[in-house]
Amino acid sequence: MLPALIICLIAIPALHFWWRARFRQEQERHRAQLAERDHQDLTSSTEALARQDALFDSMIEGVLVLDENNAVRFANGAFVEMFQVSGVLRGRALLEAARSHELIEIVARAAVEGRVVDYEIQLPGQEERWLEVCAAAVSNQERRKLGTILVFHDVTGLKRLERTRQEFVANVSHELRTPLSHIKGYTETLLNGAMDDPKIANRFLQTIERNAGRLQLLIEDLLTISELESGGVSFDLRAVELRPLITKICDDFRARAAGRTVRIETQCPDLIIRADAGRFEQVLSNLVDNAFKYGSSGGRIVVGAVAAGDFAEVFVQDFGPGLAPETCERVFERFYRVDQARSRDAGGTGLGLSIVKHIVQVHGGRVWVESTPGKGAKFFFTLPLQKSATAQG
Ligand code: ADP
Repeated sequence: MLPALIICLIAIPALHFWWRARFRQEQERHRAQLAERDHQDLTSSTEALARQDALFDSMIEGVLVLDENNAVRFANGAFVEMFQVSGVLRGRALLEAARSHELIEIVARAAVEGRVVDYEIQLPGQEERWLEVCAAAVSNQERRKLGTILVFHDVTGLKRLERTRQEFVANVSHELRTPLSHIKGYTETLLNGAMDDPKIANRFLQTIERNAGRLQLLIEDLLTISELESGGVSFDLRAVELRPLITKICDDFRARAAGRTVRIETQCPDLIIRADAGRFEQVLSNLVDNAFKYGSSGGRIVVGAVAAGDFAEVFVQDFGPGLAPETCERVFERFYRVDQARSRDAGGTGLGLSIVKHIVQVHGGRVWVESTPGKGAKFFFTLPLQKSATAQG
């Protein structure tokens, strides 16, 4: 009995200590497992956040997430770039982050209406930048407001295109109206009796013919511009000998200018360019024609070319009144004229130089003008030189 009691007395504490050790081991294993799972959860949620940030930052649209008090919870890279904000945005008030009262109104509207779509705003401090804003209020099931999500789309390019189109339509209408109203006015006067006097009738008919010619020129230039801008025209690029082409175009002008005292000189070395010969003729003719129209009567026009690196630099120089420095860039814009009346009297459409610019750019060249007011203007354009030396004409 005693030995059994002794054994029991020893076994019970031993069992107790063994059991406690096991229990501690189990507890530690369990704790380690929990810690491991927490670590995994943390890693995967950090990864998910990083993926989400990368996704939002790769968007070209700006994204701004606000909390229920309209403080910033998240803003992506595009938003930061659009609104040019610096420093930490998280926690900052909307007005402080975006400096736009309009945005506050949009957020308030979204809270009432649920969504605000396609609202346009101009970026604060950036006159020329337009954004389209979509805002959506986020609420929970009890309809308690949790925040607002705003998405910003840069529509500056579209706005600019829209404005250019509107200006173009207004300019075309204006240009067409003048000759048309002349034609209409003179026709009505003829019909009301003026045609009974052959002398007056003849003069009026000549005016009508001149204005119809203006309309025709304008429509031809407009068609050329729209054809070039559509990008649908194919240029027949070949090796072209420059000297014979320049000589031919200048000879045509000399023949047309017979009786006038303007002298055309040519200065051109043997160069072979890669160009569409027909389009080249259009470019050079427009420039020489301008030199005739705006150069000094009785003066001289020099047409020539020089090699400059991989390009031929062609120039047309006159010794007329020239151009003021601030107009040198603008003359290549559609319908820009320094002197409206002079251009119209000379039969100009205001489109010649923009056609020149388009054609030269399609060839990979550039066009510019240098001028000293009172001493004349020198228009330049470059065209690529043909790499191999053989011209096909
Ligand atoms: P336009 O049909 O009016 O001549 P262009 O596009 O050819 O249209 O030229 C635009 C404007 O540039 C002209 O109206 C004129 O004011 C100015 N310009 C063009 N060439 C010359 C030049 N050689 N000298 C002075 N001004 C010029």
